[in-house]
Amino acid sequence: MIKRRETLPVRVGELIVGNQNPIWVQSMTNTQTEDVVSTIAQIKKLEEAGCEIVRLAVLNIEAARGLAQIKKAIKIPLVADIHYDYRIALKCVENGVDKLRINPGNIGSIERIKAVVDACKDKSVPIRIGVNGGSLEKEILEKYRRPTAEAMVESALKHIDILEKLHFDQIIVSLKASDVVQTVEAYRLLSSRVQYPLHLGITEAGTMRHGIIKSSMGIGSMLLDGIGDTLRVSLTEDPVEEVKAAKGILSGLAIRRFGIEFVSCPTCGRCQYDMIDIAKAVELKLGDCKLPITVAIMGCPVNGPGEAREADLGIAGGKDHAVLFKKGVAIRKIATADIMDTLEQEIRALEEGRIT
Ligand code: SF4
Repeated sequence: MIKRRETLPVRVGELIVGNQNPIWVQSMTNTQTEDVVSTIAQIKKLEEAGCEIVRLAVLNIEAARGLAQIKKAIKIPLVADIHYDYRIALKCVENGVDKLRINPGNIGSIERIKAVVDACKDKSVPIRIGVNGGSLEKEILEKYRRPTAEAMVESALKHIDILEKLHFDQIIVSLKASDVVQTVEAYRLLSSRVQYPLHLGITEAGTMRHGIIKSSMGIGSMLLDGIGDTLRVSLTEDPVEEVKAAKGILSGLAIRRFGIEFVSCPTCGRCQYDMIDIAKAVELKLGDCKLPITVAIMGCPVNGPGEAREADLGIAGGKDHAVLFKKGVAIRKIATADIMDTLEQEIRALEEGRIT
C-alpha cells in the first residue's frame, strides 16, 4: 500500500488536487490554440481517452480570447500555459480558465505579478509553478553551473516565495527535466520542503517507446514514494497516447483502475498454441471495456493455472484446449480457437450483470 504524502488541497475547476484525492491524468494539446475548432476537437478526443485536466499553450491575446469558447465546449478543467506576458495571463483568467501555469519570477515587476495574483484570487484560479531543467534562471545556473536537482528546487522555492509573500497558497508545482534521476531527486527534495501538491512528469521524454519507458521509471518511482497529485506523460506523439500511458502507469501500480488489467505470460517452449496473437487480439478488442477486473491469459497447464486462478477471468492454455477460470475456480474446458469469443462473452455478461 502506497502512503501518499500529505498536501494542501488545491481546487482546479471541479477537481480537488492533492490531499489524498485521486491522482489526476493530465495532457496537453498540440494544436494552435487560436484555432479554436481544432483545439476543441482534440480536447474532446482527450476527454474520451480519459484525460482529466488539459493544458494548452497560450502564446498571444488572440489565443487567450478563444479560451472562453473552448471552455464552454469541454467538460474537463482547462489550464493555460503562459510565459512572461502578464496581460495574456489576465485575459486567460477573465475568460474562465481553471488554472494558470506561469512562473511568477518571469512575469516582470511586482505590480504585474500582483495583478495576476489578484485576478487569480478573485476567480479562485490556482497557479502551477513549472520549473523546467532546460530553462532555469541565469543566476541559478551560474551558482550551480548546470541544471541540478538542487538548482531546480531553488528555482521553485524562489517562485513559491513570491506567491507566498502575496498571501497566495493555491499553488501546484512541477520540476521537470529530461533526465530521470535528476527529476526524481528534485521532486524528492522539494516534497520534503513544501506541502503544495505536485504535478509529475519527465519532460521531453521522447517518442512513444522511449518516452513511456523513461516516464514509467521516473513517475513510477515518485508515485511509489507517495509523491505526486497529477501527472503527464510527455510523448512525441498524439497526446491521446499520453493519456493511455498515464492511465497505464497508475493502473500498473494499482493506484487507480480504469478498466481491465491484462496479465499474460511471455510464452516459452511449453506453450502449445498461438497465445501471443490471441492475447494481443483480446487486449485490442476489450481494451476499452471499463470493467475493473483482471484477465489473465497464460500459455500452458504447468505455470498457467496459478496466475489464471488469481485473476477474475483466467485462461490456462493447452495444446488444443484451454481451461477457463472464474474467480479462482476452474469452470470448464474450451477449445483454444474459442478463447477470444469465450472471454468476450464472459466480459460482456459481467458488464451487463448477467451470471453465466
Ligand atoms: Fe511458459 Fe507456461 Fe510460463 Fe507461459 S505460463 S511462460 S508457457 S511456463
